[in-house]
Amino acid sequence: MVICRKFFQRILDFIYPPVCPLCNTGVSTHGELCADCWTAINWIDGPKCKRCGYPFAGEYDYDTDMLCPICASGKNELDWVRSACVYDNASKQIMLPFKHCGKIKYARFMANAMIWALRDKDVHNIDVVMPVPLAWRRLFHRGYNQAALLAQPIARAIGVRVDYDSVHRKYRPDMGHKTAAARAKNIRGVFTVVHPDKIRGKHILLIDDVMTSGATFAELYKVLKKAGAASVAGVSFCRVVRTI
Ligand SMILES: [Zn+2]
Ligand SMILES: [Zn+2]
Repeated sequence: MVICRKFFQRILDFIYPPVCPLCNTGVSTHGELCADCWTAINWIDGPKCKRCGYPFAGEYDYDTDMLCPICASGKNELDWVRSACVYDNASKQIMLPFKHCGKIKYARFMANAMIWALRDKDVHNIDVVMPVPLAWRRLFHRGYNQAALLAQPIARAIGVRVDYDSVHRKYRPDMGHKTAAARAKNIRGVFTVVHPDKIRGKHILLIDDVMTSGATFAELYKVLKKAGAASVAGVSFCRVVRTI
């Protein structure tokens, strides 16, 4: 069976040779970036907040148990969050076409990066992976939930199921570039747990393409914990990093 799969993969590679999803340069494996595009991305691979994954600037020898000021003040409720890279001009070239222009072929590369971002976390206790739900109206216009496309390979890597339907999301107009406080207000009350039996006692890993202010993860945390979730963590492909 394995030999059979390898054989078909070779035929597939011959017909559709693996290329860098950003610049179409040939690469060795499907879903990889070429070396130039790889180095352009600002990967979060240095010291970071133990809890929310906020990357600390500079090359100092930070204590790995260090918390950022927001987590230290107890304002972050999620168990933990990890992101693969910083949201900037380079990662935008992946994130925006993936989200808004149907470039779903980026999903494999992005999910692989997110699995890498989980490397310092013990994911063995995760029971279920949950993509951030999309409102029906937005799903109808876009045709796909980008977070769900990322959730599938991550759930496969961890060895758990994806929960697509336990939480519903009401439609609200786009949050655009509003402040963190406005984003938090705008998202308040949009999520409803419709299958609490599938949430109760579960350790949940939320999936999103980008974490902007953290308001979406925080709101989901609130409703899932209220429904009896044992723990709620999150992982995104990229995150906005503001000086705090
Ligand atoms: Zn490239
Ligand atoms: Zn933090």
